[in-house]
Amino acid sequence: MDSTMTISVRDLMSYIYRAGHIDNRFRSNTTLVEGTAIHQDVQKMYEEGDEKEVALEHTFTREQLTLRLQGRCDGLLQSDHGPVIDEIKSTARDLDELDEDSDPVYWAQAKGYAFIYADREDLEEIQVQLTYVQKQSKEKKRFLKTFSKEALTSFIDECIDQYMSYARIILHIREQKQHSIPDLSFPFPSYREGQRKLAGSVYRTIQEKRDLFAQAPTGIGKTISTLFPAVKAMDLEGMEKIYYLTAKTITRTTAEEALQFMGDKGLVLRSVTLTAKDKICFQDETICQPDYCEFADGYYDRINEALVDILMNETLLSRPVIESYAKKHKVCPFEFSLDLTNEADVIIGDYNYIYDPKVSLRRLLPDQKKKTTLLVDESHNLVERAREMYSAHLPEREFLILSEDWEYENERLSKAAEAIYKDLVRLRGEASESFVVEDLQGEWEESLERFLEQAERQLQSEPVDDQSEHLLDVYFTAQSFLRILELVDEHFKVIGDISQGEFNVKLFCLDPSHVLSETTKAFRSSVFFSATLSPFGYYKDMLGGKKDDYILQLPSPYDSSQIDLVVAPLSTRYKTREQTAGRLAGLLYEQVKKQKGNYLFFFPSYHYMDLVYQHFKQYEADVAVQEQGMDEDRREDFLSQFVPGGELVGFAVLGGIFSEGVDLRGDRLNGVAVVGIGLAPRSLEKELIKDYFQEKGRNGYDYAYVYPGMNKVLQAGGRLIRSESDQGSIQLIDDRFLTPRYTTLLPEDWGDYRIVK
Ligand code: SF4
Repeated sequence: MDSTMTISVRDLMSYIYRAGHIDNRFRSNTTLVEGTAIHQDVQKMYEEGDEKEVALEHTFTREQLTLRLQGRCDGLLQSDHGPVIDEIKSTARDLDELDEDSDPVYWAQAKGYAFIYADREDLEEIQVQLTYVQKQSKEKKRFLKTFSKEALTSFIDECIDQYMSYARIILHIREQKQHSIPDLSFPFPSYREGQRKLAGSVYRTIQEKRDLFAQAPTGIGKTISTLFPAVKAMDLEGMEKIYYLTAKTITRTTAEEALQFMGDKGLVLRSVTLTAKDKICFQDETICQPDYCEFADGYYDRINEALVDILMNETLLSRPVIESYAKKHKVCPFEFSLDLTNEADVIIGDYNYIYDPKVSLRRLLPDQKKKTTLLVDESHNLVERAREMYSAHLPEREFLILSEDWEYENERLSKAAEAIYKDLVRLRGEASESFVVEDLQGEWEESLERFLEQAERQLQSEPVDDQSEHLLDVYFTAQSFLRILELVDEHFKVIGDISQGEFNVKLFCLDPSHVLSETTKAFRSSVFFSATLSPFGYYKDMLGGKKDDYILQLPSPYDSSQIDLVVAPLSTRYKTREQTAGRLAGLLYEQVKKQKGNYLFFFPSYHYMDLVYQHFKQYEADVAVQEQGMDEDRREDFLSQFVPGGELVGFAVLGGIFSEGVDLRGDRLNGVAVVGIGLAPRSLEKELIKDYFQEKGRNGYDYAYVYPGMNKVLQAGGRLIRSESDQGSIQLIDDRFLTPRYTTLLPEDWGDYRIVK
């Protein structure tokens, strides 16, 4: 067994020297692009003979364990007193506040590089310099120290010795994984139809370092058919981690179950499930500051012990497991789960940990991405989610409130907020409805930088109260806006958005395919799969697919005779809804009357649902109605009423929490009706998407309205047949279902339809 481990100088030093608290007021707002630009500015000033980004490596051996320490120092400078290792740090802090002891981790990092270089060149002593650059003023402050090789050697030896016990644990768990994979067999007695094909395609995709788009219908067992081959592929050279990404919490549980099945067959690896911060937070309010939260206070002093404990004693690090160890060690459960992603083999979480430029896991370095495979479940959802993730806004009203709130307490902050407010007022002009901003003139970046800097200073100086909480919210909004502003190109539009009298400037991502493909290509392999990647070309296009990607479309394992499909050509258009609501209720009742059982009816909006419900009440039927903002418990209560042999009618909203990811098998569901074709209302944003794709030679109307709408219809209809023995009826109510544009989008396995009048 290979007992070699590689670690970067940065990770090593941060493991050993991290200490203190989590404090979300102290997070640097330096963006990646900005940070790189600041580094480059300093490096440009280097003189002849100086070098930048110098790769350094040293190997240590301790009792049969080899540790390869790697890294790149920012600069290797030549001076009259010999070489200087330069480390550049951008900072939002005032340079006067910094002294030479401000950042022990940075010093340790620079000394790590200095040791490697001094040892390699056999130098008796070497100089180490920290160069701080103030982000706003671009002023610099430097600290220079000289170290003897002897001092550096004993420093690094101490670091390595301290790290070794953790390294042994990491190697131990890696060995457990490597031993358990070769003999791991498929955790079920046999493959279902289509499963073997999907599993084979996933394995081959990872083996060949390519990407796969797979449409695999409900019932095939997609989770195990993708996770099992991906786990087996961890035996391949350079394949270390799996990210299983989902849109919904429920599918995360399915992934955990699949790993448990494999665990029962002998697989030993560490998986961690990431839960959204506000859900897993132990406090009533998520204020991540040491004076408010005991789990933030001293987090970094206790985290190493917590990591060792959980990694040595658990394999499936689900939410309850993380919570229990977080309580035991008094560490924040959210930050703890993020720290666990460094060591876990499988990470289960929302799309945003990889795809959202505002929250993605920055700790995943390029080299690690090359050893990581993404499994993107229900990936049809990623199109709209990516649009949201790559969009950002600035609300006029919030900046006005800030400028007024802080006028006497912090004039600089008030002025910085006021400057943005005035820019927004200027941009809005006389407009009374949303408009496209052709050219976002002005110095938005500078104004935002100024505001962020002042906000950061203020937040650092005050304990939490309502006023600073509001400031923190706007601070994050401004930070997100700035991040997205850096990315704006022809795939975006800037919108002056006016809704309910409020004005926002919005950076709107029209086409996320470009950013998705840029993100995806950094990884070894990606597998996009869903039951409804339909139309296939549209989804492959929108998810950033390339010509040479693998594609797979598996037939349904179910028989079309299991579904009685009817189309009722009734108008559900907005202007006819009042007129046709009574007839519609009658059509729904006829479906119920025809066969006793449980039914789910889906409507395009709450308002429309209520309108039809008022008419439906005249019939004798038990009805459960979806309410707005139902939490997980109420969602479960709603679904638990669908019992085998029951006679319940559920009224729900298309595209809502009951139209996807709901699994009511057998007689828990006997029929589904979908009212309308799922079209989103006409809006400026949808129209911009339409025009954009039309110009690109696609059918803009289909891309903006028809395909996303029909996906919701297919998802809702897909609730009905969940196993080989399920039977039932699907009623599609809208005359447009009978036009070729829509009939061609109906899935083959729904079979032929009858028309009811
Ligand atoms: S427990 Fe909650 S408030 Fe405390 S640090 Fe974690 S997320 Fe923040």
